[in-house]
Amino acid sequence: MAKPKGKTPSLLSMSTGTPSSHVCGKTTPCGRCNKDISTGKECFKIPKQKSGFTSNPLFCVDCTRLIIEKTKSDITAIESTMTGEIL
Ligand SMILES: [Zn+2]
Repeated sequence: MAKPKGKTPSLLSMSTGTPSSHVCGKTTPCGRCNKDISTGKECFKIPKQKSGFTSNPLFCVDCTRLIIEKTKSDITAIESTMTGEIL
């Protein structure tokens, strides 16, 4: 199984929308690890802005989980810089 290259992207930097749960209609390679997601398997669509248009690559559950984790830690990092009013 091919290892994804580079560091895990965060939704904050890679995406223009919310991932949506999807059942794979036909075998499609994961947008990150290139592992085939077979028909009927659970996967996620993560909208991506690319040179003016939005594509919806599919991501396997494992990659989506890592991306979500990375996004959470990015958000926590931003939150920790907010020293102002906390309601
Ligand atoms: Zn994957």
